[in-house]
Amino acid sequence: MFRTHYHYNPETCKYEPSFPSRQQNVRRMLLFVGLSLLIGIGGLVYYDLHYPDLDETRLAHQNEGLKLEWEALLGKIHHASDKLAFIEQEDDGNYRVVLDMVPLDKNIRQGGAGGHEAYQLEPDEQVQEIKESYDLLTRLNNRTEVQAQSLSEIEKDLTIKEEMMVTRPAMMPIDNRQLIRFNSIYGPRLHPIFGVWKNHNGLDLTADYGTPVYAVGNGIVSLAHYNGGYGNVIFLNHGFGYETRYAHLSRYNVVEGQRVKRGDIIGFVGSTGFSTNPHLHFEVLYRDQWRNPTDFMYRDLKQEEYNKLIQKRDQDNPKMDLR
Ligand SMILES: [Zn+2]
Repeated sequence: MFRTHYHYNPETCKYEPSFPSRQQNVRRMLLFVGLSLLIGIGGLVYYDLHYPDLDETRLAHQNEGLKLEWEALLGKIHHASDKLAFIEQEDDGNYRVVLDMVPLDKNIRQGGAGGHEAYQLEPDEQVQEIKESYDLLTRLNNRTEVQAQSLSEIEKDLTIKEEMMVTRPAMMPIDNRQLIRFNSIYGPRLHPIFGVWKNHNGLDLTADYGTPVYAVGNGIVSLAHYNGGYGNVIFLNHGFGYETRYAHLSRYNVVEGQRVKRGDIIGFVGSTGFSTNPHLHFEVLYRDQWRNPTDFMYRDLKQEEYNKLIQKRDQDNPKMDLR
């Protein structure tokens, strides 16, 4: 391994091999080991700097894959958020407007701030993106819950309003085709018999004797009897503060406590009580106060007919009854 060195021996006049001393051998060995280590370490450093190890490469690939998946997921979150925003807009700008409900407060709609307290990571760009995504997802979750509650609230309100719609007086108590005259003054009028001014609290609808009289909204018959002034009269309680009264009937075919639906025949036109000729005296009350019935007849009338009705209602027409 080591080359053999020779030196000239003047005593023997020969070249003789010279052997290194033990100290020289040790120095050479150390030099060799030192150089080997230096080269080895240098090689490792170079390799480490220029060639990533297999684990690192595999992790980098995984990382790339996860990043793509994360981006796809984030895209889906944004998509869901946009869809929810559309529903929220419909909720406030459509459903709640139709139902006359107050729009939800914007802060409530946003569902509060996100919740990334559990993700206190280093604020590098990628981690920031992750935190923002968590925030977005948390807000989306909160907004969805708010929206679900809002829809539930709307459903309840709708149920009540549906009931109100079917109970509220909203049609003519006599078929418009069978109506001969719409003779009425609602409000003060000169009393036909006593000759003094008195309130007329309803409308007088002239029709042939025996013409069917309809319930103008769902309700319960609160009274059905003969009364001196009203004659045969029916009171319907519609709930939500509404009541209707049908007077001077020739007869009625309901009993007190009976439930009726809008459009049910409850009696027939007559001239009982203080009445001068067959007609229906019809009253609408809201919270025990008389209201002008023409305001509740819109359902069966065309706009033109309704306008005529409104025009006629203040005219001084022939008096039908004393009520
Ligand atoms: Zn009347």
